[in-house]
Amino acid sequence: MALLQISEPGQTPNPHQRRIGVGIDLGTTHSLVAAVRHGVSECLPDVEGRVLLPSAVRYADGAARQIGWQALDQASADPENTLVSVKRLMGRSFADIDQSQLKLPYTLIDQPGMVAVQTRQGPKSPVEVSAEILASLRQRAEDTFNADIDGAVITVPAYFDDAQRQATKDAAQLAGLNVLRLINEPTAAAIAYGLDQGAEGVYAVYDLGGGTFDISILRLNAGVFEVLSTGGDSALGGDDYDRALAQWAMRQVAVAPSTLDAAARSRLLKEARRVKEALSGWVPGMPALRLAVPQGEGALLVEVAPKDFELITRELTDRTLKAVKRAMRDAGVTADDLQGVVMVGGSTRMPTVRQAVGQLLGKEPLINLNPDEVVALGAAIQANQLVGNTPEGDGLLLLDVTPLSLGLETMGGLVERIVPRNSTLPVARAQDFTTYKDGQTALALHVVQGERDMVKDCRSLARFELRGIPPMAAGAARIRVTFTVDADGLLSVSAQEQSTGVAAHIEVKPSYGLADEDIARMLQDSMNTAQEDMMARALAEAKLDAKRLIMATQSALQADGDLLDADLRMKIDQGIARLSTIEISGDAASIEAATQALAEATEPFAAMRMNRGIAQALKGHNVESLS
Ligand code: ADP
Ligand code: MG
Repeated sequence: MALLQISEPGQTPNPHQRRIGVGIDLGTTHSLVAAVRHGVSECLPDVEGRVLLPSAVRYADGAARQIGWQALDQASADPENTLVSVKRLMGRSFADIDQSQLKLPYTLIDQPGMVAVQTRQGPKSPVEVSAEILASLRQRAEDTFNADIDGAVITVPAYFDDAQRQATKDAAQLAGLNVLRLINEPTAAAIAYGLDQGAEGVYAVYDLGGGTFDISILRLNAGVFEVLSTGGDSALGGDDYDRALAQWAMRQVAVAPSTLDAAARSRLLKEARRVKEALSGWVPGMPALRLAVPQGEGALLVEVAPKDFELITRELTDRTLKAVKRAMRDAGVTADDLQGVVMVGGSTRMPTVRQAVGQLLGKEPLINLNPDEVVALGAAIQANQLVGNTPEGDGLLLLDVTPLSLGLETMGGLVERIVPRNSTLPVARAQDFTTYKDGQTALALHVVQGERDMVKDCRSLARFELRGIPPMAAGAARIRVTFTVDADGLLSVSAQEQSTGVAAHIEVKPSYGLADEDIARMLQDSMNTAQEDMMARALAEAKLDAKRLIMATQSALQADGDLLDADLRMKIDQGIARLSTIEISGDAASIEAATQALAEATEPFAAMRMNRGIAQALKGHNVESLS
């Protein structure tokens, strides 16, 4: 007879039954996998002892693929088939991508939905390429544990939108990973530092990588992390520091950029990066650092002191500080409110960056964990909890935020905001809407994302219809629309007519997403254009009021027009005609005035209708039966 193994409540599970959860940082330049082993979170190395896997995939001859370091080795010989930085393409359409800014060495193809890359093995979508990287990390973890992986937590930038998150999830699925959850990179970094175990309060996470800068403000409250705000610059990173240093060095030895060919330029940038990284570890007493600027066949040496480097790159660092201040303003906190500052990304090794951040925020930033690894380490801790290796109740609930407001289009092309920007996730918000026309039996719902007041200035996410609403008078139906954004940041919308229960539902899976540049631009636009929006909104509202009044008056004329004498009838008809004309081309004030005039002209008519209504209601009743 088979024996069943039963564990007592509270008993620790058999170690052989331990489930394996990994954390994966799927980065723009590097990716890593980490897991909790013997109670400690650590990054898993490849067979050669390296924890970083370059996020690069090369499609070689036949069906062969090279991933990571191997791919990178071939990048300069076969740039068109060596795909790097695909994270920047995730969930984006061809039109979303500013190719002049990305300067990718490969060819993009305009495909419906997400963009793809032309390779010798045919078109490859960013999802497929990411799946190769994830599969390689999964293999590494399985080799390490000599077992299957039960689940993975994958990190994404805090302001990845719905489409970018969905694309990341799809890539994981394609790689055969069971996604336990997507979490935001800054949140993962905070967990790695154990901030969730420490003092409650507000924390800043400053992430300066190779090509991107992200700042997030988190709040720890009753063991729960909440992202209060996010910001940054998706076109600012360590690469810009390399370029600034290279340009300065050229000026020092009077070498004009135009005299360098592509190969020399790329040598110079590599050299600048080397010197930049060496400067991070430089202390007085060490030999001075020299940078070789190519010239003709040879090179000219330029000495670089830390002070020079600081001055050369001051403007770049200042740009990050501006974004930090903006994010703090968004979160409604000041430097004094901050409990701590976490540094993430290879570029935070630069002493000048650490000092500038420390000075702005008035405290020493946390730097004792390896800034390249910290995101993966935190994700692994979270994964370990989600697969159930920690005692009940010990798991922390992570909350992230929506990067942009979510709303619905209402009459007149206006946006009704339902889930405001920076709402903590998961979130569910409902709002009641009504019908606009008598007897309306269907309602078209248009879901949009953005901060502007007008639909045309926001991003359209999805459209769906609620049908089968019983015919009722305008304004009588009550349609409750509910927006739900889950812990992964994915949106679903449902609508229900309250009296009949007729319902419709949609999962919002846009075919393409918003670039973080778009998000930043949309936020900026909304600030710059608040005045313009207010006027547009006033005009749209005035038009809407005008149309409503015209419609109501016309249907009243149809029902009770016989009550009117010729004079009154003419006044009303004139009022309608005038308002109809002005409504089309007038400004808000003149439309409002014409609406007011028609309303006044119809006042006596309204009184007559009311009397008739009462008379009809009284018909057949005597006074007693009404009391
Ligand atoms: P990403 O998050 O974009 O994948 P990383 O966090 O791996 O990027 O950071 C890569 C950047 O970190 C590169 O610009 C690299 O030059 C920089 N970096 C790495 N080590 C150092 C160092 N010791 N000093 C200064 N910069 C460094
Ligand atoms: Mg990173």
